[in-house]
Amino acid sequence: MTDETLETVLTENRVFEVPAEFAEHARIAGMEQYLDMARQATQDYEGFWAEQARQEITWSKPFSQVLDESNPPFYKWFADGTLNVSYNCLDRHIEAGNGDRPAILWEGEPGDTRNFTYAELLEEVGKLGNALKSYGVEKGDRVVIYMPMVPEAVVAMQACARIGATHSVVFGGFSAEALKDRIEDAGAKVVITADGGIRGGKTVALKKNVDRALNEGCDTVEHVVVLQRAENEIDWTEGRDVWFREIMERESADCAPEPVEAEHPLFILYTSGSTGKPKGVVHSSAGYLLGAITSMKWVFDIGEDDVYWCTADVGWITGHTYIAYGPMAVGATQVMYEGAPTVPDPGRLWSIAERTGTTVFYTAPTAIRALMKQGDEWPNKHDLSKLRLLGTVGEPINPAAWMWYYQVIGGGRCPIVDTWWQTETGSHMISPLPGAVPLKPGSCTLPLPGVMADVVDEEGNTVEPGSHHGGLLVLRRPVPSMLRTVWGDDQRYIDTYWSHFPDQYMYLAGDSATRDEDGYFWILGRIDDVINVSGHRMGTMEVESALVAHDKVAEAAVVGRPDEVKGNSIFAFVILQGKREDEDLEALREALRAHVTDEIGAIARPDEIRFADALPKTRSGKIMRRLLRTIASGEEVTQDISTLEDENVVRQLQGKA
Ligand code: ATP
Ligand code: MG
Repeated sequence: MTDETLETVLTENRVFEVPAEFAEHARIAGMEQYLDMARQATQDYEGFWAEQARQEITWSKPFSQVLDESNPPFYKWFADGTLNVSYNCLDRHIEAGNGDRPAILWEGEPGDTRNFTYAELLEEVGKLGNALKSYGVEKGDRVVIYMPMVPEAVVAMQACARIGATHSVVFGGFSAEALKDRIEDAGAKVVITADGGIRGGKTVALKKNVDRALNEGCDTVEHVVVLQRAENEIDWTEGRDVWFREIMERESADCAPEPVEAEHPLFILYTSGSTGKPKGVVHSSAGYLLGAITSMKWVFDIGEDDVYWCTADVGWITGHTYIAYGPMAVGATQVMYEGAPTVPDPGRLWSIAERTGTTVFYTAPTAIRALMKQGDEWPNKHDLSKLRLLGTVGEPINPAAWMWYYQVIGGGRCPIVDTWWQTETGSHMISPLPGAVPLKPGSCTLPLPGVMADVVDEEGNTVEPGSHHGGLLVLRRPVPSMLRTVWGDDQRYIDTYWSHFPDQYMYLAGDSATRDEDGYFWILGRIDDVINVSGHRMGTMEVESALVAHDKVAEAAVVGRPDEVKGNSIFAFVILQGKREDEDLEALREALRAHVTDEIGAIARPDEIRFADALPKTRSGKIMRRLLRTIASGEEVTQDISTLEDENVVRQLQGKA
């Protein structure tokens, strides 16, 4: 099936060895140690994960079974064990004498700050746990959390975990409509929200959206717990609505952690919806927690002296695993910020990093590109010398942005962990272990120990590394942290992830990838994003990378447009660094085409280039390529664009504005 294989056109040859200084203190140091762990996992897969689970989790009742594969793809891990996730995140650190360790260093956009130690956080969690119980929330009941980036969002998630309720966090940027769909799908009994959130100097009317959602349905909801945050005016429904702080004052902090089965659903999280109707991804308790802990240690190399900061919102999986659970479970000190990264100026993140002494910093390529566009002077104003490790997630990072992050933010001394994973996998799957694996800009490098990632063709056969062909990214074995089903829709779970290859169960990630001669993984994009130009199949990512490498380009998105002769022609949407008015756009189009031809070859030369002020992105910052494909083909836009940050950009991209 040669015409079905994907070609890789862009080559990136730079290699960055592990800095000696970093390796010296790293938990996993040197390739040998990484390979040794990976080998152990390959030789005795269950034994490897069982040992990790015994070491890293404090069990209420130890497990004796490891992986139960009797009913694929409904896998179970550690099924006869019981535990409490909140106990693992809070109590055990306090019992070990670390109750006074700062857990959360929070800062709000207006400049207000609040800090919580582990002991203080446990008090909050206990009180809210008791309050939820007083509203009849029992083990297995669902609670929807619709909150801004305040410490209480983490408290709410942990309180649910403490009493065995299953939470579903809905990103605070979602509309009343999106909220309603999710509340109804989950069948929530209680909604925890705030009067409003604060972002970009504006108030986000959260409570108002909850009222709207509840007025239109959501009959299962009995109570709405409201945190006062923005102090905006809100409506009040007596009997249903209660103030967060009032109930906290009333409750005792003493709330025994409820032991739950390893497979008990800790939470439901709806995927960002980049590729269609959001799926309610269901995560387990023990397996999920285990992935969060091992990746915090292996990938973030987290230690006692670290100040860790993940800039994601708690509404995304990254905010679940790498804010609410992972850092807590390993007893880390973390920074949390509510607000826009450019208020009062584009140096805000670097100013917080300086003041808190951030050592490990984790963000998304879209944020890196946005801040890069603002210029070096902003990071250069701040002392970022405490940073020792940087990370990215969410999209492939183009080499130009990688280099900027590495040099300007990391001072050339911090490894970058480019972490490939998904809502569905629960924790990192492919990422450098920073003390062990040399880096290549734009590659997420190698799978974590115990992750059997592969690139395969349509038949499920491995595509040889170094063959310059791409294929489907799969996991050959189920990992402990991965999803257990789609909420209320087992069939969709089977169809979406496990049905692609006849006669074998392999997890289909939905991304295409290639591996180079060193076995390094390069993500090429979503399976749907592949373009076929005159029989050459390419990932859009590579063309985008080439465009972004041009001085004048800030961001680019590339899609295929149906073409009678070539199959697809290449359509590029480009956002410039400076003002469009200052440019001779026709000359620039030609320059960009020549540039792509130089970087990749004539085959990747964009046929059409359209300039705009912004790209259409989901609220989680991902480019909506499906929408761009519609626009490129000149079809009418019928997609739901309500999750777009700025609906005006659509007219611009259509060439109408
Ligand atoms: P939906 O599944 O609803 O379309 P989504 O896939 O955008 O939404 P997420 O689970 O948040 O929702 O994103 C996971 C996807 O993000 C991956 O499948 C991959 O396409 C992309 N991704 C994440 N991390 C990386 C990375 N380090 N490199 C390349 N791509 C990444
Ligand atoms: Mg996805």
